[in-house]
Amino acid sequence: MNNEQLKNLAEHAGDYMKYETPRVITWCSGCGNFGIVNALKRAFVQLGIGRKDCLLCFDVGCCGNGADKIEAYTIHGLHGRVLSLAAGAKIGNPRLNVVAVGGDGGTFSEGVNHLVHSVRNNYPFLFILHNNENYGLTTGQPSSLTRKGAKMLAAPHGVAVEPINAAQFVLSLNPSFVARGYSGNVDEMADIFVEALQHKGFAFVEILQACPTYNKLTPNEWYATRVKNVSTLAGYDRSDIWQARKLCEDMDKEIYTGVLYLDKEKRDFLSVQVGREGYKTGVVDEVKGYGVEGLY
Ligand code: SF4
Repeated sequence: MNNEQLKNLAEHAGDYMKYETPRVITWCSGCGNFGIVNALKRAFVQLGIGRKDCLLCFDVGCCGNGADKIEAYTIHGLHGRVLSLAAGAKIGNPRLNVVAVGGDGGTFSEGVNHLVHSVRNNYPFLFILHNNENYGLTTGQPSSLTRKGAKMLAAPHGVAVEPINAAQFVLSLNPSFVARGYSGNVDEMADIFVEALQHKGFAFVEILQACPTYNKLTPNEWYATRVKNVSTLAGYDRSDIWQARKLCEDMDKEIYTGVLYLDKEKRDFLSVQVGREGYKTGVVDEVKGYGVEGLY
């Protein structure tokens, strides 16, 4: 943490504590989820986003159990469906800062269709993908992001097929914001979330997350020696999608983190709705109650 970040945290420690919850934390010791949720709280504090100004939508999974680990408005949806839940909330009430949280299992299998259309529609909210390369909540089955050869409970001989590269997949869909963080670097994650929360469009943030209980292939020690912030790369242009696609290929030796791709010009879903041009209100302001007595 640099001096400016330290000063900011010290000045706003009270605001940070408002997001703390007295509820029992059920994540395993050493789980990367702790760092991710702490970075998100820091980003909220840094941007002055109060608890009533945001809605956090959680998918099913270990990350989904974060719904009761932050003191804010949270909702826990169906497995793989968190992106459609978040999109509906944001379209209904555009004033809310909406954050969707999902894991690699639900996002890249049950809900991969929702990911495709969230990117295509450029729904304006932040999506945090917890990529721990397995279904942790159900005791370590392989997901479509688990590395080839990894021996898991439901794949005792090792996963037979190649994984999907999450960032490359999203970059192939013409996104507006793609970033990567590592769960062991809270400062960097907080910086990424700050930028993502201010982005006008779908902000895809993949967090490479340690799962010490079930993912033995890529523990913290493994990531710590491989991750590098993209700012260390001379001449890197984050508006160049082909550079980003090339950069994301390597998931084994040099894994780059930070904001990897940004298109500030692409218009978000809300701003291209011709039928709502000139509206100052959100749908949530226009909902009216109608009696059903006259219908029967
Ligand atoms: Fe974290 Fe893995 Fe434990 Fe789930 S199983 S809480 S992801 S360490």
